[in-house]
Amino acid sequence: MLTTPDFTEITPTADILATRHGSRAKCLQRLARLDLPVPLSVALSFDTVRQIAKGKIPNMAALLGVFGEGALVSVRSSSQAADWGGPGTILNVGMNDAVASRLAKLHGPDAADALYLSFIKAYAVDVLRLDADVFEGPITPRLAKTYFEDEMEEPFPQDPAVQLTEVLRSMARAWEGTTARLLRQAQGAPADAGLGLVVQQMALGIGQGASGSGVVQFVSVDRGAPQITGRFLPQGQGRAALNEQDAQFIESDARGPALEDICPEQVEALRKAAALMRTRLREEMQIEFTLMNGELFILDAVRSTRSARAEVAIAVALAEDGVISREEAMTRIPPFTLNQLLHRQVDARAARDVLTRGIAAAPGAASGKIVFTAEAAQSAASQGEACILVRRETSPEDIRGMHAAHAILTERGGMTSHAAVIARGLGLPCVSGATQLQLNARKKTLTVPGRKVFHEGDVITVDGSSGEVLAGVAAMIEPALGGAFAKLMDWADAARDIGIRANADTVEDATMAQRFGVDGIGLCRTEHMFFDPIRLTVMREMIFAEEPGDRTAALDRLLPMQRDDFTELFELMQGQPVCIRLFDPPLHEFLPNERDGIRAMAEAMDMPVSRVASRIESLQEFNPMLGMRGVRLGITVPEIYDMQARAIFEATIAASEGGAPVVPEIMIPLVSAKREVELVKARVDAVASAVRAESGKAFDYRLGVMVETPRAALRAGEIAESCAFLSFGTNDLTQMTYGLSRDDAGRFMSTYVQQGVFPEDPFQRLDTEGVGELLHLGAERGRAARPGLILSICGEHGGHPDSIAFSRKAGFDYVSCSPYRVPVAKLAAAQLAV
Ligand code: PEP
Ligand code: MG
Repeated sequence: MLTTPDFTEITPTADILATRHGSRAKCLQRLARLDLPVPLSVALSFDTVRQIAKGKIPNMAALLGVFGEGALVSVRSSSQAADWGGPGTILNVGMNDAVASRLAKLHGPDAADALYLSFIKAYAVDVLRLDADVFEGPITPRLAKTYFEDEMEEPFPQDPAVQLTEVLRSMARAWEGTTARLLRQAQGAPADAGLGLVVQQMALGIGQGASGSGVVQFVSVDRGAPQITGRFLPQGQGRAALNEQDAQFIESDARGPALEDICPEQVEALRKAAALMRTRLREEMQIEFTLMNGELFILDAVRSTRSARAEVAIAVALAEDGVISREEAMTRIPPFTLNQLLHRQVDARAARDVLTRGIAAAPGAASGKIVFTAEAAQSAASQGEACILVRRETSPEDIRGMHAAHAILTERGGMTSHAAVIARGLGLPCVSGATQLQLNARKKTLTVPGRKVFHEGDVITVDGSSGEVLAGVAAMIEPALGGAFAKLMDWADAARDIGIRANADTVEDATMAQRFGVDGIGLCRTEHMFFDPIRLTVMREMIFAEEPGDRTAALDRLLPMQRDDFTELFELMQGQPVCIRLFDPPLHEFLPNERDGIRAMAEAMDMPVSRVASRIESLQEFNPMLGMRGVRLGITVPEIYDMQARAIFEATIAASEGGAPVVPEIMIPLVSAKREVELVKARVDAVASAVRAESGKAFDYRLGVMVETPRAALRAGEIAESCAFLSFGTNDLTQMTYGLSRDDAGRFMSTYVQQGVFPEDPFQRLDTEGVGELLHLGAERGRAARPGLILSICGEHGGHPDSIAFSRKAGFDYVSCSPYRVPVAKLAAAQLAV
């Protein structure tokens, strides 16, 4: 073994560390320890490479001496973590006139010329950064050397020490470049991450016997199932086999000639090597190999390439085979990876014609015909046609169209806009805030500046996972909820120590939440139960009622509808907690704002258009988000909350008969003062007493407060005196803490993030400093006043791994998020607990 201050020969016993020489050098040492046929290799440490970048070159004679006179070598980069990247491999260093003529005698002039030419090109273009065009086309090595001399004004170097020096220097400096640094930092590398280099004897891959190079893995890229995947290029080098048309398959294959037909023993040896790596390196590896006259060399091994689905399948299979523990299987999978299993995805291997980008507001992808109105979406659905609903922004009126559409695209709005929240609840892909789009609803056109004007019926694809809008239909991958995914979820459930509930407004949402195995419903937004056209009409009658008697009549009609809603929900959740939020939005959201809608409403209500229009106008607010919504509406028009409380209690009695006992949770939205809670509590208690007396049945319930205003967080101590739980609505709390409109912030958010004003969109990732401080204050003050107070987060942040870490540390009982975010939340919670 040769060790000098500058380099270390990679042997089973050498002192090679991933933290000093990089993961590739470490992996090669592991392969050598497994007695696999790895060519002679030498590792240069991070420090040595830093010195090289500064111009301090190691002793080349000693380095080349390891490999012997006339040997050719490759140089590979070896960063600490494989995904931090590094400059590409340079092959055949040491190639010169003398070696070329020796190789020509052994393998023929064509093979020798091909090697020489490829090295001159790589050296000129990748190492010395000369223009690639000069070396293109069918040229001889002699001509290539002449071009080199013309450009460099010096002959092509013949001395292997000079060549190797330049190769090492160029790779060391490339690592220091700004682009490379930014790219690896984006992958989590620290600013001072080092690069190691591996100099390896070339196994040439040319010769009379079976010779060439290939890349192989023994699991499929898309599913992670056992399957030989790879290519072999006879008389080839490096990873060229993956890109060459005339490369062969590895296993015997009906599609064409395969390596296994001529070299079955070598393929078997590869299979065994991969199996050994699987158990000893505890990972499915992709192997880069060379055959020289039938002799097998393993040059390198990296984690096999894999889709998200394959990633889960591989980790679960490794744990089931006892190669890794279940805990390790869980920690190996980044939680957001699961999003790609829950929804259809654009196939990463397919071409993408990106038209524009917006906010990736709800994951998954769908292709379909553009429609501009909810009605058009419904009519497309009735004809069985997939459609994409494109709106400036959506409102409750669009809900039925959203149900009918396959995806939603909006010009405005952010992560917590109406479109985004509803789409996530429905499991529909959504791109919101695609601000470059020019939408003309009247002409029914969608202009993508610089590209094209789209009309109704033209086909596009919305990719809500990436935020991209693509032209035409895209190739898709289907969701995968059984098998390995289901097992992983079981393991996560057993490991986690914080509750995960779902935000579910309808029976469909709750059914989906049940499929993902939630601990209950953390937020049922009752206003979302009124979008059905019949209910909407009754709701409008209630809003329009001028006499108290008329209002009561309308509420009497809504009562049985709500009672049925809650009964169904309680029955479905089988005794698990269900937290129902009393009515929240401003009333005008239930009224039409376009001329056609107003006319239709006037007809339905048998009123003049002018009266309908003026009533709508009288309900308009300058700033509805801060206007008469939530508990303010509940106190001003208390009959609405009375009706809802009665519906909840009657449903409790109905669902508890013969079923699991139900203890409903009733939550008051947008509270900012203690007195609001006292007033609502008094009325809800009165309704409970009335229902108990009328029915003769006993039941319990818990009353809680949604903490969504900074004041409620600050005054949580006195608020907690009148309630059993506090649930932080971080959407509104973020909006009000920053004074940042959740519906308009999309317009400038990307500028703000780009300029580092906010590290990230605070509607997507909880601001643990500012909003977080309010959460801490609220939690502490609440629990000090009422020990045992149940605490949770139910804003969209609830499903984000960061918020789960925050909530767990702060001693919250559960988080609640859209059903489709539940698996991500469960895995993130499990990772924190193991
Ligand atoms: C919130 O504000 O965080 C919340 C959950 O309520 P909504 O999104 O319905 O305003
Ligand atoms: Mg809210």
